[in-house]
Amino acid sequence: MTYFKLILMLLNELDLTNESQPMLTSDRSPHWSTPVRIRAMHKNSRRVLLFDIDGTLLDPAGEGRRSLRRALEDVFGVTGPVDTYDMAGKTDWQIVTDLMRAAGLDAETIAASLPAAFAAYARHVEIAAPTFKMRPLPGVLDLVAQLAADPRFILGLVTGNVREAVPHKLRAVGLDPGAFTFGAFGSEHHDRNRLPALALYRLEQGLGASVPPETALVVGDTPHDIACARHSGLRVLCVATGTYPRNALVSHNPDFLLDNLGDLTAVMEILGSF
Ligand SMILES: [Mg+2]
Repeated sequence: MTYFKLILMLLNELDLTNESQPMLTSDRSPHWSTPVRIRAMHKNSRRVLLFDIDGTLLDPAGEGRRSLRRALEDVFGVTGPVDTYDMAGKTDWQIVTDLMRAAGLDAETIAASLPAAFAAYARHVEIAAPTFKMRPLPGVLDLVAQLAADPRFILGLVTGNVREAVPHKLRAVGLDPGAFTFGAFGSEHHDRNRLPALALYRLEQGLGASVPPETALVVGDTPHDIACARHSGLRVLCVATGTYPRNALVSHNPDFLLDNLGDLTAVMEILGSF
């Protein structure tokens, strides 16, 4: 049993006693509830990078919020406090739930319409993407191109975004979605802390190799990114390119902290040594 399968299994067991929160249903398999024999597994030795998107790879410029407002109007007929709600670092699942609770809807009604809300959001992002004002953050295009071509690294995503919206947002700023070969998304669990283990479990399945926690690094822009990394025993590089200034991130003790990803030499020094 790999480290990340163990974490996922324990988290899902905890969920069974918490009926107030929707359970993660993807990637569960029946045998997880029975003892699993530990077997020898090849260890991945490449460095694994788990990138956040909004505020880390790109400046969303309010486009995601506009698309979400349209989706909420379509599906629920209300938008809640969508214009003032602090979305940074949260999953779309949590954002939709919080906004609709604030609008007065009950938990069952919201949960029943979440898949429709995610689909509507992805549809509105796709429709609006050609006119998006969002842009890549400094250094990101060069960095991702360099990392994707470097066999020492495997690139993935840990993002609060709805999975189906992600390719449209990445392409809108000139990033190749294919550079990121695995991930976990904000339409798959309300709690961001669950996402790194899910992403790395998928990577382990794809590689047929275990991924030791010390070989993986979360790259994000909020205290939520730091928290989700810690939750799975991972290290984290924080960048002050989102809504949190550098001094607000320092107090959360990221392993590495940069103003932005613009200094390719400084970034590669960190990514080559963690
Ligand atoms: Mg972010």
